[in-house]
Amino acid sequence: MAGEPQADCLFCKIVSGDVPATIVRESETTVAFRDINPQAPTHILVIPKAHYPDAASLAAAEPTIAADILREAGEVATEEKIEGTGFRIVFNTGTGAGQTVFHAHAHVLGGRGLQWPPG
Ligand code: AMP
Ligand code: ZN
Repeated sequence: MAGEPQADCLFCKIVSGDVPATIVRESETTVAFRDINPQAPTHILVIPKAHYPDAASLAAAEPTIAADILREAGEVATEEKIEGTGFRIVFNTGTGAGQTVFHAHAHVLGGRGLQWPPG
């Protein structure tokens, strides 16, 4: 069923605690943890506890949880003190855009200059 945990999903295992992560925030519907391969001084992933393969499918099925992700991304930026210098919220969607984990997640990146357009 849509949103149910998937046995073969890495981020569902982080939600359940079966795979360890450095968790920085948690809400009723979301978890935020440090990316294992950071691309900036601050690089945190915000994910829904429910399993959806990407941000668009999450937003279509559970718009309030999609909004929770954005709110938590902002809270992370405040906690990490990167909101003043600017930060980026990225949802890679599809293999062609670099998505490697097919459980929706926002990358929150900051703490260095961020080029535009991104690569
Ligand atoms: P994406 O390529 O947009 O799907 O992002 C997946 C992200 O998950 C990458 O930035 C990885 O570095 C990160 N990642 C993979 N495994 C883990 C893990 N066990 N804990 C934290 N982050 C991870
Ligand atoms: Zn999952």
